[in-house]
Amino acid sequence: MADNSSAAVLGTGIMGAAMARNLLVAGLEVLVWNRSKEKAEPLAEDGAKVADSPAEAADGADFLITMLPDAEVTAEVVWGVALDSLADGAVWIQTGTVGVEGCENLSKLAVEKNVAFIDAPVLGTKAPAENGELIVLASGPEDVKEKVSPVFEAIGKKTTWVGEAGSGSRLKLVTNNWILGLLATLGETVAFAEELDVDPEEFLEAIGGGPLDLPYAQMKAPMMISGDYPTSFPLKLARKDAGLVLEASGDLPMKVSEAAAALFDAAIESGRGEEDMAAIREGVKEGRGS
Ligand code: NAP
Repeated sequence: MADNSSAAVLGTGIMGAAMARNLLVAGLEVLVWNRSKEKAEPLAEDGAKVADSPAEAADGADFLITMLPDAEVTAEVVWGVALDSLADGAVWIQTGTVGVEGCENLSKLAVEKNVAFIDAPVLGTKAPAENGELIVLASGPEDVKEKVSPVFEAIGKKTTWVGEAGSGSRLKLVTNNWILGLLATLGETVAFAEELDVDPEEFLEAIGGGPLDLPYAQMKAPMMISGDYPTSFPLKLARKDAGLVLEASGDLPMKVSEAAAALFDAAIESGRGEEDMAAIREGVKEGRGS
């Protein structure tokens, strides 16, 4: 469905660029800004206008969409936006994984600037983002739900509304905790199989199609087996997410996520931070003998 609203997308990394393309396909006018302009420039071929600053992108926009690594960077970038230069009734939609406290800080910033704020982190990685098949965990004021629906329809296949702003980020962290545990145990299982001279492919075949199977394992294990980690989700950002989970857990013991964080750290130390999070398997290797 065509839409003549305009959206400023700030941050055109793996996720932001794919989202911007799908907003263009849906017929929105899209202005993009990225710290390294060369990463935003290819979007011009898809019809986006490439801005030199966050303020230029946001000028007159109906939607301000931020897809940045964390709350600190998001606040810094949005601070440079003349929020009062957005269109009347504009909505700021934050889609990054920013954590509980981070989201509270961004929400306060929106209140200070008198802009409606939707917290909408997403589930899904590079391919679902490219295919407009993300799952949006949306939270925020009821009265802008309808207004933002064309954006969510463009970038995702499902939107789950979960209450007031911040609830989306809470649910996202719960989901991330689940992913972290799965990935860490998968990395260790592949390493363990090799240790026992079991071909890890046989493990995948054994669980295939049964109750122990998991599409996520079938997607990430081949990278671990080949040792080639083309990036869908940068490992350093997965480590950031582990930190957000641990920070939000208070005094609840989170041994599995702590272990995952340590494996990510080992992988980062061995230079794998920019590779896919599946390189956690290399963190398992690094821990050998320690
Ligand atoms: P990415 O490809 O690494 O892109 C990060 C973006 O943030 C780039 O545009 C980068 O600009 C920008 N950036 C980094 N530091 C900055 C700074 N100090 N000032 C201004 N801009 C800065 O990351 P991504 O995978 O798109 O992830 C973005 C967010 O989505 C993160 O919160 C991540 O946790 C979340 N997320 C990712 C996935 C996934 O599978 N990839 C899935 C769900 C959620 P430069 O190009 O200049 O570096």
